[in-house]
Amino acid sequence: MLPQFNSDYLSGSYRGRFAPSPSGALHFGSLIAALASYLDAKANLGQWLVRMEDIDTPRIVPGAADEILRTLEAYGLHWDGEVVYQSQRHALYQDILAQLNKAGLTYPCSCTRKTLKQRGGFYDNHCRDRQIAPEGNAHRLIQTQPVYSFDDLLQGQVNLPASLAEEDYIVKRRDGLFAYQLVVVVDDIEQKITRVVRGADLLEPTARQISLFNQLGYQAPEYAHVSLAVAQPGFKLSKQNHAPAIDTTKPQPALCAALGFLGLPVPTELHHDSVSNILHWAEQHFSLRALPRHREIQVSLQADGCYDFTGLTA
Ligand SMILES: [Zn+2]
Repeated sequence: MLPQFNSDYLSGSYRGRFAPSPSGALHFGSLIAALASYLDAKANLGQWLVRMEDIDTPRIVPGAADEILRTLEAYGLHWDGEVVYQSQRHALYQDILAQLNKAGLTYPCSCTRKTLKQRGGFYDNHCRDRQIAPEGNAHRLIQTQPVYSFDDLLQGQVNLPASLAEEDYIVKRRDGLFAYQLVVVVDDIEQKITRVVRGADLLEPTARQISLFNQLGYQAPEYAHVSLAVAQPGFKLSKQNHAPAIDTTKPQPALCAALGFLGLPVPTELHHDSVSNILHWAEQHFSLRALPRHREIQVSLQADGCYDFTGLTA
């Protein structure tokens, strides 16, 4: 039997979301993702929800979630409904996991990074029939619905190697935390998300997420993966490569730079206008189809704290 949710999915109206991980303040890269999903929701007269992906407890920085919300407000990105915190939804994830368990679809796995490396660097469903004790081990989901390719609204057809598509992946980690792949799908179902607009760094895991939607008996949302701002090819902006927090006292420059990145160059006369006027202009001119379709766009930090686009990669 497939796990059941209480709410009925797909009410027919657009619901998008921005789902930051509160491991630090918002930087230019996260502003781009927030803006793209916000503007697409507005363009579709939809709801725009905010979800704090704070399930990965060791990486969570105290106070970062509140700081992110204050930053979104300073940039005029007002969300609909209550903010959802993954850290408060353990019972929901546990319930779905228990249902998958009961259906015989999960199994414990004792493989470590080291043993996987010895076996060629990828997981070949080694533990599926090994009957390992659950205690102290990760839990994997038996892949019964492999997704080998899917269509992304911006990146086109995305193909996955069979080894990745057919891999039994981890749904509960060795340290007892629920895996991102599980909770993101459970949340998207429970929040009735109809379209996911996010950074292209999450493009490949999408196939796995679609397979989990299928496995749980729900239709996957549409996906649009926006070009990623990178400091250099392959390195997205992050705290690790010193992407500074965006300015909440004077949001206009970063807002205009992020809109420029999304192919919406703000007219000069609006650069010093109010945030709401700039956003209003952006809402009138936004079109998902017009967004850049590169996986990465290289940017460089300027003296004024804003970014310039230096080149296109991938
Ligand atoms: Zn294993």
